[in-house]
Amino acid sequence: MRFRRLSLTGFKSFVEPAELRIEPGLTGVVGPNGCGKSNLLEALRWVMGEGSPKSLRGGGMEDVIFAGTASRPARDFAEVSLLIDRGPEGDSEVTRRIERGAGSAYRIDGRDVRQKDVALLFADAATGAHSPALVSQGRIGAMIAARPAERRQMLEEAAGIAGLHVRRKDAETR
Ligand code: ATP
Ligand code: MG
Repeated sequence: MRFRRLSLTGFKSFVEPAELRIEPGLTGVVGPNGCGKSNLLEALRWVMGEGSPKSLRGGGMEDVIFAGTASRPARDFAEVSLLIDRGPEGDSEVTRRIERGAGSAYRIDGRDVRQKDVALLFADAATGAHSPALVSQGRIGAMIAARPAERRQMLEEAAGIAGLHVRRKDAETR
């Protein structure tokens, strides 16, 4: 699986629609402090199903919506789309949208899906919101300080078997 394009609207500091093409090879994001580099990485994790506001540096899920500045009013929704190349299965676009007071919803290629479907899609590709391939600021320290169960979860993501747990949970609730 390869990421091809990240599109954001109203997500954190990205109030106007923005698009980031992700070319093959290494992508670098550079800019002064506070320009939104970490916000971009958080958008990537968020669209892949991140469910913890804390790991997005917020107190609640709606904190990802542009909160307004002295000169611009707040927005009432945030939307992030990720275009992925799934190899033989072709391209797919995963979208997550959150509205104030209405929670978030996911779509894959325009179809409404569950958070679980999005989590599975990425878990099978050994990527995903908690992938060890995404190392945010402070994560190295967190990994060292993690409890054994948390560290095991990180290792399972790295080994690409996290999808099996999602399936097992799914099977158990049927
Ligand atoms: P550094 O180099 O210091 O790590 P950075 O480029 O990673 O900086 P970010 O942390 O991505 O910067 O961006 C921080 C900016 O995003 C701050 O100016 C903050 O006010 C803004 N921001 C975060 N959440 C929101 C929100 N919900 N609405 C509006 N602005 C937001
Ligand atoms: Mg940063």
